[in-house]
Amino acid sequence: MNRPRVAIIGVILESNRQSVPAGKDDFRSLYWLEGQEIIDQARTGKTAMATEACAFVKTMDATGPWEPVPILLAGCHPAGPIEGSLIDLFIDRITSGLRDAGKIDAVYVANHGGMTATDREDPDGEIIAGARLVVGTGKPIVVTLDLHANISELMVDASDLIVGYRTNPHVDMIERGEEAALALRMMLAGTWQPKSAFIRLPLAPASVSLLTESGPYSELIDYGQRRQAEHAGGIVNVSIFGGFVFSDTSKNGLAIVVTARSETALAETLAEEIAVKAWAMRARFKKDLTSVSEAVSLALETDRIPVIFSDSGDNPGGGGTGRTTELLTALVAAKAENVLIGCFFDPPLAECAHETGLGSRFRAEFNSHPGVSCDKPFEADAIVTGLREGDITGRLGLYAGLNLHLGKCAALQIGGVTAIVISNRYQTADPILFEMFDIDIGKAHTVAVKSRGHFRAGFRPWFEPGQVLEIDTEGLTSPVLERIQWHGLPRPVYPLDEETVWERPGA
Ligand SMILES: [Zn+2]
Repeated sequence: MNRPRVAIIGVILESNRQSVPAGKDDFRSLYWLEGQEIIDQARTGKTAMATEACAFVKTMDATGPWEPVPILLAGCHPAGPIEGSLIDLFIDRITSGLRDAGKIDAVYVANHGGMTATDREDPDGEIIAGARLVVGTGKPIVVTLDLHANISELMVDASDLIVGYRTNPHVDMIERGEEAALALRMMLAGTWQPKSAFIRLPLAPASVSLLTESGPYSELIDYGQRRQAEHAGGIVNVSIFGGFVFSDTSKNGLAIVVTARSETALAETLAEEIAVKAWAMRARFKKDLTSVSEAVSLALETDRIPVIFSDSGDNPGGGGTGRTTELLTALVAAKAENVLIGCFFDPPLAECAHETGLGSRFRAEFNSHPGVSCDKPFEADAIVTGLREGDITGRLGLYAGLNLHLGKCAALQIGGVTAIVISNRYQTADPILFEMFDIDIGKAHTVAVKSRGHFRAGFRPWFEPGQVLEIDTEGLTSPVLERIQWHGLPRPVYPLDEETVWERPGA
């Protein structure tokens, strides 16, 4: 096998059950690539495609001969479930592409792992299992996933190795893509015959409790890495998935996937050890938020260091609409000064600001078009202080180096508050979303962002963890899980159900 033929497939979507389903246009507006375009974009790096997929291709290039067989890679912003007919189409193109490609030696899958479909629960598992069906057993299938993946038995059974992110905010996508490629080389050489063990706990924390700089999740991930290092040679990967509770499926729950180089028992023992540890620390996955009124009082305090607020209920990065105005309304009503707030996904308002023109005053109407019930209208007199249109390159954190298609954008000054309006539904994870209007973030007294956690990396130059507050705002990503009407989540589940019990396997 001098030039192994490696197929590349993947569909990336994080699904929030409450959000609007994702259709063709949602993928087209981010990326939907088929065939050679995948490899061309991965090699040039000028792309919106998943960073780990680019890193996989570059690492395969750097580590010896191979023949990429690029089939389909698509991704869209976190949204609702994917439309059933669209996932059918993707799976059909992937499996027929694999079938028509002739001999395939291995498959790389770049998925998120938190996708649901309008008519079923586990499209991630279906994609991997579909590939397995075509290539047969004995051909390595390596998968990279976000740590917000909800892991199913099918995903683990149908693949040879699952490599999950280990950082939240996510900043290790390049390393994980490299790891997947290097592992695949070991499998293709016959050095590894990986065996995985998988345990899912009845523990479904809100995403605000899944940070990796500090706290229980960070300790768990560090523990897994330390134990892997102690088993160097035996264990090849430890991935601990916090999951995405808002997907609301039966496969929700913190999941531990341990892969051994060849020995099943070794993987099982370590997976169980980590599961016991995770379960023992479950109470620490609860987290208190700051109320909107406390946030407003803080915004009015002049004698303090700058702070950044997470509009945690409306994180487009978790399927939020990017349109709630609760925090904006409260800050404007309180006459808070020197506040930056963004970004509102409101194309009609951006359009209106462009028609009005730079420096002009107008009546800004947020949410003039229909939305979900939390997208409340808000209007105020505003001055257009910035206008721009077109793509921009991400600078720091999650979006660093990625091409952001923002469409028409505007900066609006409403009293002491500057609000950013964009025409594509991005979370405010990158300072470029303010800086593109020549705004100096370092001069703001209060910054409020529509992002749950990824802004922590992007805004780190100005805000240490102690300057971050998570605000209890309304929206489709509210971390207050008790307020949500659950449908698929297995119950009882901690922390929603205090009485939840878990018994270790074989206990
Ligand atoms: Zn994630």
